[in-house]
Amino acid sequence: MFIDSHCHIDFPELAARLPEIFGKMRENQVSHALCVSVDLPDFPRVLALAEQHANLYASVGVHPDYEDTPEPSVDDLIRLSDHPKIVAIGETGLDYYRLEGDLEWQRERFRRHIRASRATGKPLIIHTRSASEDTIRIMREEGAGTDKGGAAGVMHCFTESLEVAEAAMEMGFYISFSGIVTFKSAKELQAVALAVPLGRMLIETDAPYLAPVPFRGKMNEPGFVRHVAEFIAKHKGVPLEEVARQTTGNFFRLFKIAC
Ligand SMILES: [Zn+2]
Ligand SMILES: [Zn+2]
Repeated sequence: MFIDSHCHIDFPELAARLPEIFGKMRENQVSHALCVSVDLPDFPRVLALAEQHANLYASVGVHPDYEDTPEPSVDDLIRLSDHPKIVAIGETGLDYYRLEGDLEWQRERFRRHIRASRATGKPLIIHTRSASEDTIRIMREEGAGTDKGGAAGVMHCFTESLEVAEAAMEMGFYISFSGIVTFKSAKELQAVALAVPLGRMLIETDAPYLAPVPFRGKMNEPGFVRHVAEFIAKHKGVPLEEVARQTTGNFFRLFKIAC
């Protein structure tokens, strides 16, 4: 069985076809999915999905690409995460690719998410794009992943260098690979996937974006995470069952879900 550790099936284009999406998950033995929050106004619909479906979990956080949106305080994040199906804080992080100018507000927002994670013991879901130096620096400055009980987190949809992966793993973080790793052009990322041990790895779709080969360019969905696992298995030369067993175990361990 496989788990999609990061998807956005509350987005309208996916929410409109949920029965089909759940069918595709079953067909591909994708047992669970984590629905990741991107802003506070849409948080209720993410939470509703997790409340209505036993095999779905959710997070609370505000994405670094959302500029004109209510800013969450540390207390907001702590209060909203106080729910058994909210298993993480995020997605949060830094994105200097999509936005330009003075992005101090992004760094401040990121710091508040790390503080909420440390206060609640719920792990972080970190998004980083063209900003890995500041991301790692702020994680260190804020003590991400240093608490007893190990509320570290995951570097989601990882596309950075092995050095960045190692710095994050040193702080207790997992590295999550999406469909990008299956792309022919992703040679450097494939080398990183070879070096990251299965014991520190998660898999995800980030649906509706970034469908893996052979669905590249189509709308992504959680059932397709199986293709990420198949690629990793072939690439590392290990049985598919081993990738399934380890990434699933990592998911339940990181998000403290009893299974
Ligand atoms: Zn992201
Ligand atoms: Zn995402």
